[in-house]
Amino acid sequence: MTHTLRGDEVLIPADNHIVLYEVGASAVLSGVAMRFLKKSSGIIDTGELQNLYRTYDIHHPRTGLICIENAHTQGTAIQVSNSKSVYEFADSKGVPVHLDGARIFNAAVALGTEAKNIAANADSVMFCFSKGLCAPVGSVLAGKREFIRQARKNRKLMGGGMRQVGYLAAACLVALEKMTTRLVDDHKNAKYLASCLQDTDIFEIDKKRLDINMVFAKFKNDKITVKNFNEDRFISFLLDNKIKINPMHDAEYRFVTHYYISRRNIDYFVEAITNYFNKEVF
Ligand SMILES: *Cc1c(COP(=O)(O)O)cnc(C)c1O
Repeated sequence: MTHTLRGDEVLIPADNHIVLYEVGASAVLSGVAMRFLKKSSGIIDTGELQNLYRTYDIHHPRTGLICIENAHTQGTAIQVSNSKSVYEFADSKGVPVHLDGARIFNAAVALGTEAKNIAANADSVMFCFSKGLCAPVGSVLAGKREFIRQARKNRKLMGGGMRQVGYLAAACLVALEKMTTRLVDDHKNAKYLASCLQDTDIFEIDKKRLDINMVFAKFKNDKITVKNFNEDRFISFLLDNKIKINPMHDAEYRFVTHYYISRRNIDYFVEAITNYFNKEVF
């Protein structure tokens, strides 16, 4: 809303969070249309950007914004060189870039760099305190002073003013000062979980999407197809063992490690899963 005018077009990969999980808010609140780049787990093809960018034509909407995401919802950290080429392209056209950096600190750890080096290739960045950084609540938007001044006014307009937010911000300080330095443990644990699951011979792990604290697991065995697998029973078996999981999405599970998940927890989880599949008859 702060970057764009009503009727603008926003260039964004079709599998980004803003497209999939934000209720179409950009259309309702900001009056913008999205124009999709192909799904690519966050990696941007600048040639495609060039093709989708609208040059001036009285019939066309204006390209008002480019949105990128790092780390990506699909578990990938995008190389800074890729973001840099997007930013250079955008700059050459005078189009701003917004970075959905919900997990920017995970991306920084995975890329062996600092969050500021990722953020440097965007005009604004949003990130979450409430995910890997472990705060109970909170996300922030960062950008240049004048941009933030306008964004705060838009936030107020949308009912986002919160007088008591200082109490919550205290938890965010812990997130920034303490939690950013330990994300490497979550990433190691995710890789450990991935290898344990792979070893069960029940799951196939997508190793291309194992950059951060997420593990994407599909069933390996042809016998365990979505058709004859009773997921409700599987989920309630795990729940009986004090493990809560989400159902599959697109035929795969997404498991996430964080501050409260230890290696011991992972061993316990993998053992419970193994027990289930040893007992079940397919
Ligand atoms: C969670 C998430 C968001 C939204 O965060 P809020 O705190 O709900 O505003 C945006 N992008 C990505 C990639 C996310 O994971």
